[in-house]
Amino acid sequence: MTDHYAVVGNPVAHSMSPAIHAEFARQTGQDIDYMRLLAPLDGFAACIADFRARGGKGVNVTLPFKHEAWNFVTAHAGYALNAGAVNTIDFRDGKIIGYNTDGIGLVRDIKENLQCAIQDKRVLLLGAGGATYGVMEPLLREHPEQLVVANRTVQKAVALVGHFEKLQNFSINGVLATPYHELRQSKFDIVINATSAGLNDEMPSLPSGIFAPGALAYDMVYGKHTPFIKFAAEYGAKISDGTGMLSEQAAESFFVWRGVRPDTAPVIALLKREA
Ligand code: NAP
Repeated sequence: MTDHYAVVGNPVAHSMSPAIHAEFARQTGQDIDYMRLLAPLDGFAACIADFRARGGKGVNVTLPFKHEAWNFVTAHAGYALNAGAVNTIDFRDGKIIGYNTDGIGLVRDIKENLQCAIQDKRVLLLGAGGATYGVMEPLLREHPEQLVVANRTVQKAVALVGHFEKLQNFSINGVLATPYHELRQSKFDIVINATSAGLNDEMPSLPSGIFAPGALAYDMVYGKHTPFIKFAAEYGAKISDGTGMLSEQAAESFFVWRGVRPDTAPVIALLKREA
């Protein structure tokens, strides 16, 4: 019998997740289908509850519902516990368990696919939304020399750092929150754009000297040549969009649901060819 999964978001039409999970299912012989669910901005919980009541086995959660998903689930597993954000929900055995696979996906893409170490690097993370919460702990567990979080609404970056500072089971010494204009004197080895600005052909207002020689500029937005990517290329950084992260976080979700690990390489190659 076919098991049903979905990605829930608003907007969600741009999501590549159905194509990725269809390929993973084909590759591993799993009998699943996977659809997009557009939830009203005030109707996330009702949308998920309805999908579950109709026999849904699990969902991925995308913007802007990752914090709401954390509150919706009845238990947190893995990185979801500290992240305060959930991107994967498993409805197995009558439970509603929340996971966060975004950080695993990002770190795997940077380290393994792009062959760029994070340890001892100066890392700048742009944005303070659900995606940033999800990647904080996995990034810090790689022991960067420095992690700075910058956001347009600086209070949200301060709140994010405060959230992680309060954790009892994980310590985040030396992480700074800052507005963009205070980055003028700084250089970073890895700059990760975790804002949604690129979806609207915009970018955070960054100073031009932000990239250290040989720096990696990573935009979580995928399938678009975003203003951030163009800016980074102009100033000599190595560039990557979020296609690899998307595929790796999806593979981790697939593993949570099905207990089988798909091969991401052909999916990444296919998505990059189609972009
Ligand atoms: P979110 O919770 O809605 O947060 C959006 C963030 O973007 C906020 O920090 C917001 O700043 C910032 N922002 C939006 N427009 C901006 C602009 N014009 N200039 C500067 N900052 C701007 O979204 P999210 O869930 O964190 O997701 C962020 C992005 O990452 C989305 O595009 C999503 O598709 C992508 N993502 C990709 C993957 C992947 O696998 N590749 C995984 C997760 C997320 P304010 O706080 O000031 O509003």
